Amino acid sequence: MSFLEYAPAPESRSILNLRDAYGLFIDGEFVEGTGTSFATISPADETHIATISAASEADVDRAVAAARRAYDRTWSKMSGRDRGKYLYRIARLIQERARELAVAESLDNGKPIKESRDVDVPLVAAWFFYYAGWADKLDYAGLGADPRALGVAGQVIPWNFPLLMLAWKIAPALAAGNTVVIKPAETTSLSALVFAEILQQADLPPGVVNIVTGAGATGAAVVSHPDVDKVAFTGSTGVGRAIAKEIAGSGKKLTLELGGKAANIVFDDAPIDQAIEGIVNGIFFNQGHVCCAGSRLLVQENVHDEVIDRLKQRLSTLRLGDPLDKNTDIGAINSREQLERIRALSKIGEDEGAERWTADCVIPDSGFWFAPTIFTNVQASHRIAREEIFGPVLSVLTFRTPAEAIAKANNTPYGLSAGIWTDKGSRILAVADRLRAGVIWANTFNRFDPASPFGGYKESGYGREGGRHGLAAYLAPSSTRPRTRAAIAAAPAAARTSRTAKKGAKR
Ligand code: NAP
Ligand code: MG
Repeated sequence: MSFLEYAPAPESRSILNLRDAYGLFIDGEFVEGTGTSFATISPADETHIATISAASEADVDRAVAAARRAYDRTWSKMSGRDRGKYLYRIARLIQERARELAVAESLDNGKPIKESRDVDVPLVAAWFFYYAGWADKLDYAGLGADPRALGVAGQVIPWNFPLLMLAWKIAPALAAGNTVVIKPAETTSLSALVFAEILQQADLPPGVVNIVTGAGATGAAVVSHPDVDKVAFTGSTGVGRAIAKEIAGSGKKLTLELGGKAANIVFDDAPIDQAIEGIVNGIFFNQGHVCCAGSRLLVQENVHDEVIDRLKQRLSTLRLGDPLDKNTDIGAINSREQLERIRALSKIGEDEGAERWTADCVIPDSGFWFAPTIFTNVQASHRIAREEIFGPVLSVLTFRTPAEAIAKANNTPYGLSAGIWTDKGSRILAVADRLRAGVIWANTFNRFDPASPFGGYKESGYGREGGRHGLAAYLAPSSTRPRTRAAIAAAPAAARTSRTAKKGAKR
């Protein structure tokens, strides 16, 4: 119990202009789905927000057909400069409606308003601004002059950053000249549907973006649709693996952004106060529902007790509760199902002999909640050290030497991210060089920027999102453009030989 009590400071819901029921967004219009519609609820109090249409296979087929028509008739014919104008317009509308989007996101997902307002939504706008800038510069994306779009992209996203994952998927796809069919997660479709209204406001040509809500079966229908040219998925390793199998040999291009079990490594020379904030941000940001969360703390043995004591003190000051309250640090767990998963793995941690500590928070009577939790005395063989808990649960391990820290950090089937805390720049570089992770933060954690590529190794998936690299997933080099015999014959002899020579060199 802290001696300084905060008065409630709830963000008003009056800015929301929600409908009672939402259809699918196909060909620029909201249309009724033919699947069984479902309710979306607030995970903070389990109240009903809206009824949402579910897309059947036939509806997905309609959406893909709309995307194909839009690709053939408008989007692929438009100049990059004009595509960029639409993306800029979308980005500006996101900024204009930022507060509304943040409230919708916190209501539907359970994340604290201060995170949706200060992190998610600003990054969503930044992603559209960034890729708007690329739309007329694709010749400089590193794929040769005049790369071409792939066609229709089928995208499936998770519930942890609903709108941000939508932006990561849609912005590069459109900039590169593709059209889109996207499926949000069943529990968090609301912000995608508000985004659909923004697309209408931006006057985006019908069919360029189609949003098909529904459960896993809708996602499966999107990725397996024969007229989809590119699949982008973010979610669990299990579903990612099934998708990779399903579309193998189909010629569809695939990027997978899956789970992680990141090591956050604290050396004894680290600035401890900063490291504590970094550990908290690493695993308690967004209730730990973060694929790149620093869920394994590797702390040098001689500072272990000091770090853990101070961490517990810091966690005792975090406020858990109403996601719409501006003072809330820890919001609600997104669904009952996810809460059960976190509880089950935490129970396993106790049974395996790790020592559990839980912050003393008042848990609200309704809704889905899990107080910040730390496990110490964790062994590398424990399931809580190997499996993604995807909740506000930190597993603490120790090490004595940098070599041991590196070995332990890499001892995971995943390889998405890692963190290093130390005073020495040379140590940062030496350790980072040997960590098998796609993103490595030094003396900070969970920082995102649209210009910076993001993605994993091993079971964390493949392909990169963000930056120039993120465009490669949505473009084919111009050399793979189907060329007619006449075009080849008409090309100057020098160009013909240099192209052949380059191909030979690559092989
Ligand atoms: P998930 O089942 O992989 O869901 C991700 C997305 O895929 C959702 O839109 C989901 O729809 C959809 N989906 C489910 N089955 C599908 C299928 N067979 N074909 C195509 N799409 C399908 O993940 P989850 O159940 O929400 O979470 C489970 C675990 O995944 C978490 O505990 C966490 O470890 C991990 N996860 C990782 C990330 C990440 O950012 N890398 C994000 C979320 C979860 P529905 O939501 O409607 O079922
Ligand atoms: Mg919901």
